Amino acid sequence: MAEALFEKSKRKKDIQCPRDKALLAKQHAGDAELDTCGKCGGTFFDSGELFKAFGIKADPSYWDRPETGGTVSNADIHCPSCETVMLLQDVKYEGEHVQIDRCGTCGAIWLDKGESDTILKIGEKMHPVLEAEKAKAQEELAKMGDVDFSSPGLIARFLGLFKKKKTE
Ligand SMILES: [Zn+2]
Ligand SMILES: [Zn+2]
Repeated sequence: MAEALFEKSKRKKDIQCPRDKALLAKQHAGDAELDTCGKCGGTFFDSGELFKAFGIKADPSYWDRPETGGTVSNADIHCPSCETVMLLQDVKYEGEHVQIDRCGTCGAIWLDKGESDTILKIGEKMHPVLEAEKAKAQEELAKMGDVDFSSPGLIARFLGLFKKKKTE
């Protein structure tokens, strides 16, 4: 465990802003350790860190959906973590629109200054949609007979059946 943490901080020691090459500074948000650029205000999120930093409404499961889907194209920046060319993804819902950069290889996400606010607004708007979907899934599961709802993994897997993959 301690070793894994050490590996992580070692790997992320010197990562640079993909926009202006400034060294990113570590910042704590929620349970996440984020890397933020003091120059342009962008923030780098490892896979899963959006959820850790801002809660479930910022998680890709909330905004990476058919309802919010826009186009995906190649971004003009490289992933600060693994160097892959990142993907530029439109996320929009009910008047909110943001273009985020995400890495198709390691799952990292780069948010320019202010983009996390829009992501959270979209997550907030998506909340009732997700709740309705979850209720429906539980109903369907209940029809199948005895199901243990205390297992969150089960519901997640079931919801996964409804989720369309856009990228790839
Ligand atoms: Zn920067
Ligand atoms: Zn990457």
